[in-house]
Amino acid sequence: MAKSPMVLVVEDESALADLLRYNLEREGYRVAVAVDGEEALMLSSEAPPDLVLLDWMLPKASGVEVCRRLRARQETRNTPVVMLTARDEESDRVRGLDMGADDYVTKPFSMSELLARIRAVMRRIRPALADDKLSCGDILMDRVAHRVRRGAREVHLGPTEFRILDYLMQHPGRVFSREQLLDAVWGSDVYVEARTVDVHIGRLRKALNESDERDPIRTVRSAGYSLDMATADAA
Ligand code: CA
Repeated sequence: MAKSPMVLVVEDESALADLLRYNLEREGYRVAVAVDGEEALMLSSEAPPDLVLLDWMLPKASGVEVCRRLRARQETRNTPVVMLTARDEESDRVRGLDMGADDYVTKPFSMSELLARIRAVMRRIRPALADDKLSCGDILMDRVAHRVRRGAREVHLGPTEFRILDYLMQHPGRVFSREQLLDAVWGSDVYVEARTVDVHIGRLRKALNESDERDPIRTVRSAGYSLDMATADAA
């Protein structure tokens, strides 16, 4: 089973951060909290979240600055960002959206409205998280039946290869380090050598690719692996 989506809450008011954590966890999300912009950037590079809930007014680095820097990084380039702002001036909203925020909510807000907006952004940007079926190029995954097809061909995968592919298909184009894949697929409480990831990626490639097919898994030197949608589409 894939892990539930992770929301990074960036909020310096601890009472609000606690309230957000409580409500998001009740909705089934995993939650990490950062109390300032620097911590947000650090946490998001350690474990890229599926969505960032970002306060506009933050100590150390402003929400806009955090958003800009998240967008500049490979691993968070496509991560949805919902901004929380006390300001409701049109120019600030436009600026937030210009910096790459996907949506904004003006404080004070109703929790149920905020949760609905988060669900909507998740659905729009990562339909994978809500779906039983994933597709990337000519690869199709049925997560309930545990079946994978490439084109017309059935692909047989071991459980670990299945989980790796599931995770990569949820985040097409995003580069994951071996450590991030270990954490996502094996869990952070299990000790597995980073090389083990290479072994399973090797098996996954062998199962996915027949001789004339293009390899959809990209090895990024000294960084890790990604599922390259453009490559898969071209196959
Ligand atoms: Ca604040």
